[in-house]
Amino acid sequence: MAIYVWDYRREYENEREEILDAVDTVFRSGQLMLGASVRGFEAEFAGYHGVPHCVGVDNGTNAVKLALQAVGVGPGDEVITVSNTAAPTVLAIDGVGATPVFVDIDPVTYLMDTDQVAAAITERTRCLLPVHLYGQCVDLAPLERLARQHGLKIVEDCAQAHGARREGRLAGTVGDAGAFSFYPTKVLGAYGDAGAVITSTDEVEQNLRRLRYYGMEDRYYVVRTPGHNARLDEVHAEILRRKLRRLDDYIAARRAVAQRYAEGLGDTGLVLPQVAPGNDHVYYVYVVRHPERDAILAALKEFDFHFNISYPWPVHTQTGFAHLGYATGDLPVTEAAANEIFSLPMYPSLPVDLQDRVVTTLRKILARG
Ligand SMILES: *Cc1c(COP(=O)(O)O)cnc(C)c1O
Repeated sequence: MAIYVWDYRREYENEREEILDAVDTVFRSGQLMLGASVRGFEAEFAGYHGVPHCVGVDNGTNAVKLALQAVGVGPGDEVITVSNTAAPTVLAIDGVGATPVFVDIDPVTYLMDTDQVAAAITERTRCLLPVHLYGQCVDLAPLERLARQHGLKIVEDCAQAHGARREGRLAGTVGDAGAFSFYPTKVLGAYGDAGAVITSTDEVEQNLRRLRYYGMEDRYYVVRTPGHNARLDEVHAEILRRKLRRLDDYIAARRAVAQRYAEGLGDTGLVLPQVAPGNDHVYYVYVVRHPERDAILAALKEFDFHFNISYPWPVHTQTGFAHLGYATGDLPVTEAAANEIFSLPMYPSLPVDLQDRVVTTLRKILARG
């Protein structure tokens, strides 16, 4: 039997009645757009985070993009972020006409090296965009200090960190806005594209509601441009409401997989994920590192295994971002990691026997040397 890095089908079999009931509830409701399910999900997702506002949007890329616009980022502004992220983080900055500025990452957690941020701030810097990558939070305390000193906004990219905490604070609740994706693979995933932004600021919330709805205040009256059609669908919102009730269970299941991997692989020479002090990791992906990564992946081809690399090409080295003016060599820690990391299968319904096959197969390959 093949082992995939991610597979939702066992979860669907377990939750099928509830998911189909969610779909049926929406289809019978008489309101297919921006109705009771979107409102309900927004209230419940805000409630989970203990913040006053959540605005549902159509995907995570637009969550980041609209969050940036809602806090006032636009053409000519610089936004400090990392190159070790999903390209959409950077596409969102590019998409609002701002300039992404990269700092390198910490070699242990692969997260933004916050010590490098101060030196990257210029007259044009408007916003800091930390990415809570792989399921654990960037330390936001130093960024909060810099934001206060320099009058900057903070938008958190929480697409990989639903329910993750640092020193008790949930991802998305610290900055001016927290942007989430509910792409199916994410820790909280819909059955299609979906996203949301949370915020504690009334003005940011109001901006988001306009931005996702053509820039309109009332129906048919545009009060600001650029406006977007970036609504969250009712059907995904209703599915997400049902799944939100299980979010903490999904996270617990991911942690159990991570623990089994750690027990089985701790002595193999693979560098396993390191949890930074104060962090509660939610293991969106389980990233391991080895200098012979490519040989290991080649050896795995003879087994029916699928592995992933998040991410094989740092954003600043990709052709589509050549206009940003970076070159290979500019972010050495990011580039070194990209050559050596890979991700093991990770999802809440991954059966224990498959987890054990992951472990035994890797042990076999690593023992060959
Ligand atoms: C998935 C992801 C996004 C984009 O979300 P989509 O819903 O796919 O648009 C943005 N940032 C990060 C870090 C992601 O992992």
